[in-house]
Amino acid sequence: ARRFFVGGNWKMNGDKESLGELITMLNTASLHDETEVVCGAPSIYLDYARSNLDPKIGVAAQNCYKVAKGAFTGEISPAMIKDCGVDWVILGHSERRHVFGECDELIGQKVAHALESGLGVIACIGEKLEEREAGTTEEVVFAQTQVIADNVSDWGKVVLAYEPVWAIGTGKTATPEQAQEVHEKLRVWIRENISEAVADSVRILYGGSVTGVNCKELAGQADVDGFLVGGASLKPEFVDIINARA
Ligand code: 13P
Repeated sequence: ARRFFVGGNWKMNGDKESLGELITMLNTASLHDETEVVCGAPSIYLDYARSNLDPKIGVAAQNCYKVAKGAFTGEISPAMIKDCGVDWVILGHSERRHVFGECDELIGQKVAHALESGLGVIACIGEKLEEREAGTTEEVVFAQTQVIADNVSDWGKVVLAYEPVWAIGTGKTATPEQAQEVHEKLRVWIRENISEAVADSVRILYGGSVTGVNCKELAGQADVDGFLVGGASLKPEFVDIINARA
């Protein structure tokens, strides 16, 4: 069985005071033991989050560069993330792709280097509204996954996050059926193009307007193995999402 995984993506939100309150809330909440929980903190607060969150809660960076060090002003490396005691990085998020123009090639290089450096990777994929409307959802999602797969050295360290761009921060959550359809097709694609073992073991998260209210039905879908949560990960309802399968 795949262990349920709930990631919080804080994006560029919070300060030491508000994140400190969130951390205290998470540390004292009753979280389902079976769920793996990871919080994605802004890079400047990674050390703060790792120092204050209960060790049973993981921490993720929201991005990193593709090499260990050098003249890359403003960037952080997987080695630095590891040095802060942080074990995960989110890569290929739609905001990195579409607001900051990261292409598949760069995302692939980042995935390869992050894994070589010993980080776990939450690799994000997902179609835009016009792609869904044009009927190209599968084509887009499979192509993005292919580039990630070409750069994966250890699938045991990778979690995939399907985040349809039209559902992110819009309140337009994919229906459980829409999420399950893409997750199931993706798993079949993985079975045919990577391996049976990876298809059976890799966690595929859903992301996009997940809330404390809609999480249970989504979590009940056979191929939904968890969530990547933006806005709601900053609120008390994040606990309900963590406990969606409890
Ligand atoms: P929202 O949950 O705010 O829609 O964001 C989803 C997301 O982008 C998580 O990475």
